[in-house]
Amino acid sequence: MSINKNLEAIKKKLNQDTVLVAVSKTYASSAIKEAYAEGQRDFGENKVQEMAEKQAQLPTDIRWHLIGHLQTNKVKYIAPFVFLIHAVDSIKLLKEINKRAEQNNRVIDCLLQIHIAKEEAKFGFDADEVLAELASESISALKNIRIKGLMGMATNTSDSAQVKREFEGLKSLFDQLKSKFSSSNVSMEILSMGMSGDFELAIAAGSNMVRIGSSIFGARDYSDS
Ligand SMILES: *Cc1c(COP(=O)(O)O)cnc(C)c1O
Repeated sequence: MSINKNLEAIKKKLNQDTVLVAVSKTYASSAIKEAYAEGQRDFGENKVQEMAEKQAQLPTDIRWHLIGHLQTNKVKYIAPFVFLIHAVDSIKLLKEINKRAEQNNRVIDCLLQIHIAKEEAKFGFDADEVLAELASESISALKNIRIKGLMGMATNTSDSAQVKREFEGLKSLFDQLKSKFSSSNVSMEILSMGMSGDFELAIAAGSNMVRIGSSIFGARDYSDS
């Protein structure tokens, strides 16, 4: 299957308001160009250096989504151009994004990563933590970031009932935060959940942004990375 056929097949399964982020990590810029030629503009990368290198080579109207874990010392490399940072998992990171955004005279949109999977916690806030942070004053002072929503990853399991439960849990937290918090720099609009293996379950649970890589570009080859 070719990239354009894959894109076409996936788009049929999305809702009209679902944003498709094509996850291009590990794939060559030529693959991105192919998807770009089909009208795709949102691309996701999980490594700062790879994203910065590709951004420098590719059309300037691409919207670059950083979807992986972000270290504070690397924010500066993407601050000039990143469109949306999906995996903000600490207030310390949010403060660094704010500082670098200010230096670049821009406002950077961010999603808070919520830990929803049963698997051991690697990154992300728990529900009670995110409630406490949003209620505190620490975020309102950050004028160069905007919190636009939440991001989560379900457990990597064939148990679809569990995946469904996890997505529904995140949707209900999203709805709760949306009704509770709205300010100049917090507005809950984006719910980023769903990947190649589970995006249909995510959409059914209320996702409006999916991050899909291998179903578009084919199986990933990590051998030389
Ligand atoms: C790689 C990745 C994806 C896409 O995964 P596929 O299974 O290739 O669709 C989505 N989200 C994150 C955070 C990723 O790292």
